[in-house]
Amino acid sequence: MIRLGCGECINSLAVIPVLPANFFGDNEPDSKSICRQGDNYLRVVLTGGAGFLGSHLCDLLIAKGWDVLCIDNLITGSEANVAHLLPNPKFRFVKQDVSSGIQVDGAVEGVMHFASPASPPDYLKYPIETLKVGSYGTHNALELARAKKARFLLASTSECYGDPDVSPQPETYWGHVNSVGPRSVYDEAKRYAEAVTMAYHRHHGVDTHIVRIFNTYGPRMRLNDGRALPNFLYQALAGEPITVYGDGKQTRSFCYVSDLIEGIYRLFESNEHLPVNIGNPHEITILEFAERVRALVGAKTPIVFRELPQDDPKQRCPDITKARRILNWEPKVNLEDGLQRTYEFFRKQVASTGPTR
Ligand code: UDP
Repeated sequence: MIRLGCGECINSLAVIPVLPANFFGDNEPDSKSICRQGDNYLRVVLTGGAGFLGSHLCDLLIAKGWDVLCIDNLITGSEANVAHLLPNPKFRFVKQDVSSGIQVDGAVEGVMHFASPASPPDYLKYPIETLKVGSYGTHNALELARAKKARFLLASTSECYGDPDVSPQPETYWGHVNSVGPRSVYDEAKRYAEAVTMAYHRHHGVDTHIVRIFNTYGPRMRLNDGRALPNFLYQALAGEPITVYGDGKQTRSFCYVSDLIEGIYRLFESNEHLPVNIGNPHEITILEFAERVRALVGAKTPIVFRELPQDDPKQRCPDITKARRILNWEPKVNLEDGLQRTYEFFRKQVASTGPTR
């Protein structure tokens, strides 16, 4: 069991590129928000807070008035993603593996569990770590929420639907998952995480929430995380061939990160305990997506076709009827604007690091 004391904070880190002024779009955080109890600000423990999504969630939570204790072992997260928050007294970062146990002194009003490798190449590289953080890590985060009487939110995934034979996917669809395929280390870890979360809700009465996150993109994605968008943008910027896996007819639906984070926060504040899809229902083939990125960058490089990874889902599109109804949420940033903002970020990244990743 690990006890998190003050001496473990990281204090000085590199600075990341500044986000565009209109980054939050219509979802600009409300600085007059409500996270106070008496004279004290309320505190969230956010696991995986130095990752792509986690770091954007840190920003929103701080803007809403929460104190944030961010825990991350940095296997796929990056110190640079939270460097700009370190001078803020309402923010603390601790480097720690939550699969080994979590103990936090003092009051905690919210626990959000985002720790996990999440891109297919990352979870194939770290299969055991992925299974452990989905199982032991989720269990430890739930125990913390139970002990502190805090509300809990699990970052789950559209991968729970596997290679779906229903489209778009509503939350009521049980999925089509290969339990022994290479992707199962992530899919089944998250399905277990959902099961243990519901057990803590039903058996222990913990106030739990489950978000099923669909493909998301935006600033702070890792250039080398192996997902479609970082690969395509990097390849177009570096003048390399753009690699489309299979025939490119498989579909995905890409949600800009600020939309996703706003939807997650609304779910955290809601009374809903069953899973809720958060994603953008605008579906596009991967080949068309590659062509859009190539046109955006103005690259002349060819699109080349490579072998489709095993069990790669043929289609993915969220049914967001439930999120619209209970959270009054839907995405606002269209693909053109989102890609432009993401491109600006990657262009600066490549300019500062050179054409390597
Ligand atoms: N993909 C691709 N080229 C790449 C990386 C990914 O064609 O360089 C495909 C991948 O096979 C999948 C889709 O793009 O069909 C989205 O992959 P990603 O890794 O972004 O996320 P996934 O939705 O599979 O979790």
